Amino acid sequence: MGFIYCTSSRPDGNMSLCYGDTRDAVDNRKAFLAKSGIDYPGLVCAKQVHGAGVYYVTEKDSGRGALDYQSSIDDTDAFISDKKNLALAIFTADCPAIFLYDPLKPAIGLIHAGWRSTKQNIVKKTIRLMQERFGSEPGGLKVTLGPAIRSCCYEVGEEFSDTFGSAVTKRGSRYYLDLSLVNTRELLECGVGEENISDSKVCTCCRDNEFFSFRREGDACGRMMAVAALSG
Ligand SMILES: [Zn+2]
Repeated sequence: MGFIYCTSSRPDGNMSLCYGDTRDAVDNRKAFLAKSGIDYPGLVCAKQVHGAGVYYVTEKDSGRGALDYQSSIDDTDAFISDKKNLALAIFTADCPAIFLYDPLKPAIGLIHAGWRSTKQNIVKKTIRLMQERFGSEPGGLKVTLGPAIRSCCYEVGEEFSDTFGSAVTKRGSRYYLDLSLVNTRELLECGVGEENISDSKVCTCCRDNEFFSFRREGDACGRMMAVAALSG
């Protein structure tokens, strides 16, 4: 059994059925998923709320949110699953997507880790649920952090230092947050091995030809899609 994971980019088009220009989103999903051999009508999506809800996806959820937004799983920013050929999707435009793979069980996780979810320790909650449901050992997890806004571009208020400590750096009179660093530290605290964490280090805001960026584009911004699945 293998692990399929990928992130769409701007040329793949908007993947969201609720943000940006949604007219071509289903067709965009279909074309993008075909590249990975994933059947688009079975895709599992969430109504993301920048919370810390983690949802265990099983076969009964197949297709929720694939073709319409309303059927998406409510109040969820992270998925876990141990079911084969069930593709999980989260949607981002600057927020880190975090992929987790336990090759031993096997099982997977996929996290939408914006600052509010990160503040609520969504990484820890996802790993804890993988431990409870699947008996996953954090030391055996392989983790990848996808493209996201980085501290080069992610200006925040000074008060973020109170929450995120040294992951907030000051340049001149401005403050910048490295959200991927916060989540990497949390992964290490959970017991994930440093050698098993892979970070793309790519900034979605700097590379606006390649990625959608909420910080750069605002409310009309489209969304990329991060997808994870266990293949049969
Ligand atoms: Zn940047």
